[in-house]
Amino acid sequence: MSRQIIIGGFGAAGSSLALGLIAGGVSAGDIVIFDASPEVGGAPKGPDARILALNAGSRRFLTALGAWERLSDCAWPMLSMALSDTALEEDYRPKLFDMAAETEGGPLSHLVPLGRLNATLRDLCREAGVEVIAARFAGFKAEGERITVDFADRTLEGRLLVAADGANSPIRLKAGIPTHGWAYGQTAIVATIRHSLAHHGEAVQHFLPSGPFALLPLDEYRSSIVWSEKAAIAAEILASDPATQLRAIAARAAGWRGDILGVEAISAHPLQLRLSRRFIAERLALVADAAHVVHPLAGQGLNLGFEDSAMLAELIVERLRLGLDPGAPDMLETYQARRRPAASAMAFTTEGINRLFSNDAAPLRMLRDLGAGIIDRLPGAKRRLIAAAAGASSLSPRLFRGEAI
Ligand SMILES: Cc1cc2nc3c(=O)[nH]c(=O)nc-3n(C[C@H](O)[C@H](O)[C@H](O)COP(=O)(O)OP(=O)(O)OC[C@H]3O[C@@H](n4cnc5c(N)ncnc54)[C@H](O)[C@@H]3O)c2cc1C
Repeated sequence: MSRQIIIGGFGAAGSSLALGLIAGGVSAGDIVIFDASPEVGGAPKGPDARILALNAGSRRFLTALGAWERLSDCAWPMLSMALSDTALEEDYRPKLFDMAAETEGGPLSHLVPLGRLNATLRDLCREAGVEVIAARFAGFKAEGERITVDFADRTLEGRLLVAADGANSPIRLKAGIPTHGWAYGQTAIVATIRHSLAHHGEAVQHFLPSGPFALLPLDEYRSSIVWSEKAAIAAEILASDPATQLRAIAARAAGWRGDILGVEAISAHPLQLRLSRRFIAERLALVADAAHVVHPLAGQGLNLGFEDSAMLAELIVERLRLGLDPGAPDMLETYQARRRPAASAMAFTTEGINRLFSNDAAPLRMLRDLGAGIIDRLPGAKRRLIAAAAGASSLSPRLFRGEAI
C-alpha cells in the first residue's frame, strides 16, 4: 500500500501532525498511522492522571485542528504563577517570584487532561478518514524516493516516515539515532486533589530539596499536582494507603490551598532527560517525545511536541503544493534546523533549574534567592519568560501563530 506520509504513533504528536496536514489540504488518504498499543481501539492504558499546561501557541494550533472547542469543558485557565523555595519542614512557603500569566489574547496557559486531549485528537483523525492500523513494525528501509515499513502481515510504502512513538521511540532506536540524557532518579507523582480554599486561577510551584511540587488550578476547589520526588521516597508514598498519601501531599502544599480534602486520581511517571542527537535520518523525522523528553517543571514537553508537529506539517504541505518530494533531504534539514535548537534550549533550561533548586546546599539557596529576586525586579526578563512560554515567537510555525497554512 502506498501513501505519502506514514506516522508511527497515535498519541497527541502523531494525531496532531495528521490533522495539521489535513488542515493544509493534504488528503486523509495520503496519510496512514500505525500504533502498537491496543489503545488504538480506545481503551485506556492504565492510570494516567496527567493534566497538561498547554500554552497559547498550542491553543491556537488545537483551535486550527478543530480540537479546542471540543475541550472547552475541561480546559482550565492558569491566570498567575507563584514560585517558592523552601525546606520541607518549614510550614510557611513565601512567594519568591510571582507573575501574571496573561497575554492580550487571554490566559497564557490552560490545563487540559491528557486522556481527553488524546481521545479528542484521535476521534478527529478517524472522523477525517485517516486509516489507523493497530500494529508493531518489524523494520523499515529507505531506498531512493521511498521508504518501506514492514509489519508481520503487510508492508506500507511512503515518501516519509514520522516517528511519533514516544519517549522510548522504537523507530528512533531502529534508525540507530543516539540520544543525550539520563534518568533523573526522580519520579513525578501526579494527582488530582480537592481542597478547601479557592485557587483563583493561581498556579504555585514550591521548589523542595528533593524536587519541585506544583499545584495547578482546575475548577475552583480542585487542583492537579505534579510532585517530582526522589524515586525511592516516591515508591514508598505510592505504596502507602490513601490517608498517608493525603497527609504527604498536605505537608508539601503547606496550607496553600487550605485543607486537602481528597485525592481523586494518582499516577507515577519516572523522569528522564533525553535529547536526540539528530531529529532526522533518511526519509525519517522525529517529533515530540520521540525526539526530546524534558523535565515537567516548566510544563513544556508537549508544547514543544505540538510545535514540532505544526512545523513539520507546514513544511510538508509547502512541498506537496509545489509537487515536490515531502521526504526530501532539504525539507528534513530545514525541519531539524528549526526545531532542534528550541528543544535543546528547553532541555538545558529545565535541567539547570532542576539542578539549582533540587537540593538544600546553603550557597545554592542564596544564589536561588538572588536569582529569583533579580528576575522579579526586571520587567523585561519577566516579559521574555512569558513570551517564551506563550509559544509565539516569529520562528514558530504558522499554525502556532494563529495563521493558516
Ligand atoms: C509528569 C509529567 C507532566 C507533564 N506535564 C506537561 C505539561 O504540563 N505540559 C506539556 O506540554 N507537557 C507535559 N508533559 C509532557 C507530555 O506528557 C508528553 O510530552 C506527551 O504526552 C508526549 O506525547 P507523544 O505523542 O510524543 O507520546 P505518547 O503519548 O507517548 O504517544 C506515543 C504513541 O506511540 C505508540 N508506540 C509506542 N511504541 C510503538 C511502536 N513500536 N510502534 C507503533 N507505535 C508505538 C504508543 O502506543 C503511543 O500511542 C508532562 C510529562 C510528564 C511525565
